[in-house]
Amino acid sequence: MKPIKQFLPALMLCLGAVSTNQLFAQDEDAPVFRFANEIVHITGDLYRAGNGSWHGIFLVTDEGIILADPLNLEFSTWLKEQLDERFDVPVRYVIYSHSHFDHAPGAAVFADTATIIAHEGVALNMDGRYPQMPGDMIDRNNNGMIDEEDIMVPTTADPGICGMFPGYFETIDLNGDGVATPAELQADLVRPDIFYSERMSLTLGGKTVELFHPGKNHGDDMTAVYFPEERTVFASDMIADALVRDDIRSLPSACGPLDGTPIAEWIRSYKAVEALDFEIFAGGHGGFFNKTDVASARQFLEDLQAQVSQALIDGLSLDEMKQQIMLEQYADWAYYNQLREKNIEAAYLNLTKFRF
Ligand SMILES: [Zn+2]
Repeated sequence: MKPIKQFLPALMLCLGAVSTNQLFAQDEDAPVFRFANEIVHITGDLYRAGNGSWHGIFLVTDEGIILADPLNLEFSTWLKEQLDERFDVPVRYVIYSHSHFDHAPGAAVFADTATIIAHEGVALNMDGRYPQMPGDMIDRNNNGMIDEEDIMVPTTADPGICGMFPGYFETIDLNGDGVATPAELQADLVRPDIFYSERMSLTLGGKTVELFHPGKNHGDDMTAVYFPEERTVFASDMIADALVRDDIRSLPSACGPLDGTPIAEWIRSYKAVEALDFEIFAGGHGGFFNKTDVASARQFLEDLQAQVSQALIDGLSLDEMKQQIMLEQYADWAYYNQLREKNIEAAYLNLTKFRF
């Protein structure tokens, strides 16, 4: 049997994770994940590379490949073999969409030919301190280490949505001493060679790729990657989170609340992507989406913000908000029944109590 550490990176989620029980459950409300490594042609020389549920993206040029998100070491090892076989040019650049442990690790296999680039926030999240984490996994006792309770409190509170899954902690506590250091969590995460602040442009083999920081949302170190000639944009865990499948109309998991970022900044960062001239949103999760789809994800956050803000002005309690804010226009979205109240609570906490 494979060591669990090798298998689990493919199970990891950025906006929480399903328990292994739920992962294989027949419950139609439970997220369903596919695991099959694949390369999918998008347009021109642009391809999606992923394992079925997590995706990166790469552009092939005569002088090499520009890749965003190696996902994990097992996947990137497979991908390198595929790229060598199919294209016979080296990977020259690796871009991290953000520093989270289920999208960015694995660049070591490309390190001999590639320059690794990320937003400057990644440097802070790799400086040895407790990094910004998805799924409401925070340093609850302020000891700088990831304890089992940091994982299990959100996992137990919102099974299948926030935190990770029972047994996950043991996979990151590499030396088994009962605490996981940030270094243990990021053991497969290669420190970038270049950090940028606002935006950056790459040119390789006559093709141009634009990197930009859209603002904070799911993470505080986010990069969106724009391929102007291909009119395609890539970003992970924003716009389409890990619960999204082929239809973008899916309520956000909203952990933490909203990952510790003001909801207004989420909206601003979605608009930064919308402002691009693109036809295809090929993100780290879900299918291929268009600009209307991206707008609908932003509109949900705007409606949530507006309705909870108005309820605060009207003096409603959180319980009253949960009873009265029905978000009816989203009743046919995935996870509406499961996550409507959670989204209201997340927005309420985000707008009132959470210290950013
Ligand atoms: Zn993430």
